[in-house]
Amino acid sequence: MSTLEIKDLHVSIEDKEILKGVNLTLNTNEVHAIMGPNGTGKSTLASAIMGHPKYEVTSGEILLDGENVLEMEVDERAQAGLFLAMQYPSEIAGVTNADFLRSAINARREEGDEISIMKFIKQLDKTMNFLEMPEEMGQRYLNEGFSGGEKKRNEILQLMMIKPKFAVLDEIDSGLDIDALKIVSKGINEMRGEGFGCLMITHYQRLLNYITPDHVHVMMQGKVVKSGGSELAQRLEAEGYDWIKEELGIKD
Ligand code: ADP
Ligand code: MG
Ligand code: MG
Repeated sequence: MSTLEIKDLHVSIEDKEILKGVNLTLNTNEVHAIMGPNGTGKSTLASAIMGHPKYEVTSGEILLDGENVLEMEVDERAQAGLFLAMQYPSEIAGVTNADFLRSAINARREEGDEISIMKFIKQLDKTMNFLEMPEEMGQRYLNEGFSGGEKKRNEILQLMMIKPKFAVLDEIDSGLDIDALKIVSKGINEMRGEGFGCLMITHYQRLLNYITPDHVHVMMQGKVVKSGGSELAQRLEAEGYDWIKEELGIKD
């Protein structure tokens, strides 16, 4: 089992404090959802885990199996087993999707233990089939001319091929029609199990109709203010966030 621990994380953007002490512990074999109103710092949390240079961690810790993630460069974070759907530049000139995937897989393997081309192609075909992706998408340049839905589906392809320990998926559901949403959800559900943990950030409960999270957290004003099971997401869908604000005495 692996553990991703976020301890009392404070993050600022341009000297403005956005995250004000976030605490979260994820284990593999768990799917956590983070919900919350707009502008409460959900994407800031994802960016801080990713190591985006604009987001300054002023205090607190992020530990992956006890290792200090904050000291790692972005690519080291990926090699250590973190997957961040947003870490990939939207377009990389001249790199095909398949090339990118193969080097990402090999980056996580020891030298001399690289995946064979045959095995890679077999796995790629199988996974693209599963995600109902046309074969030619493997040979397309990374994200070049991909529609919004294709990009999201491609992120799930990356997830399934790279097999990280933990994935942070920020609004993977945004802009998807219902068929694409079902396929993206099918991919994430397929990943669930031993050796994989997921932090899904979503503004809408809709995604959670297809992926039942083990834990749901509500973020407000830069903190996790409430945690519960999947029933918490259902209550948010029905009643919005006001009852939590009242319960906790939070003013807008
Ligand atoms: P959420 O994802 O919950 O909607 P964000 O993390 O995107 O919230 O934003 C939290 C706060 O940080 C907002 O007030 C937003 O305006 C601010 N913020 C986010 N990113 C930046 C940025 N790159 N530069 C300046 N302010 C930012
Ligand atoms: Mg648990
Ligand atoms: Mg956001």
